Amino acid sequence: MTKQQFPPYEPVKIGEKFWAIEQGGVRCYLFEGDDMALLVDAGFGGDLKSVCEKLTDKPIQLLITHADGDHMGAAWQFGPYYMHPSEFSYYHMRNSKQPDAIAIWEGEKIDLGNFCFEIVFIPGHTPGSIALLERNQRFILTGDTVGNVPVYMFGNGRNLPAYLASIKKLKEIQDSFDEIWPAHGKRPLPKAILKDLCQLAGEITTGKWPQPQPAPAHMPESVKVYGKNGVAFYLEK
Ligand SMILES: [Zn+2]
Repeated sequence: MTKQQFPPYEPVKIGEKFWAIEQGGVRCYLFEGDDMALLVDAGFGGDLKSVCEKLTDKPIQLLITHADGDHMGAAWQFGPYYMHPSEFSYYHMRNSKQPDAIAIWEGEKIDLGNFCFEIVFIPGHTPGSIALLERNQRFILTGDTVGNVPVYMFGNGRNLPAYLASIKKLKEIQDSFDEIWPAHGKRPLPKAILKDLCQLAGEITTGKWPQPQPAPAHMPESVKVYGKNGVAFYLEK
């Protein structure tokens, strides 16, 4: 059997005890706290654990923002991970086994001392997508829900009306943060992008579709890019 090749994990220091770990088009985040480290998402796969252990000697707890394959590849290396229970059946549907997960709910806090993350439930891209709000340092991690690259909104588990409600929810709490740290595309993002995503999702859910653009060749033929103002979705009409 040939070993599957993955792009390398490339850590980038963002701030004090705060790293982005880039892997091809996807990104994880690592935060070192007083007694433990929090890893947010696990990329496509490959030896993420030894990359993290070069950055921190604290025990590492993994949290999965959502159960898409590009966020869970190396999850098995870290033991049970935090995930929202609304994501369990989505994971199960694609993997035919139960996730190795610890339930984490809206409003729960992960307190690392120097960072304190509050869970914000933002379903739509997947049924149990979550964001992590850091109120003191005024930033939020949003997984795949917010991005300047097209957000995948076709196929099982995706729900545009739920997505729209989640973007509105993020807009309602936008006074609590200044920066958005996404899992794909440009980082960080200004919170003005929430207005553009809200407008686009709102228009499409009411039947006002923008002119589609072709999706990349590896995508199903039925999928097109629907976008405006620098934001877009992959959707099937
Ligand atoms: Zn993703």
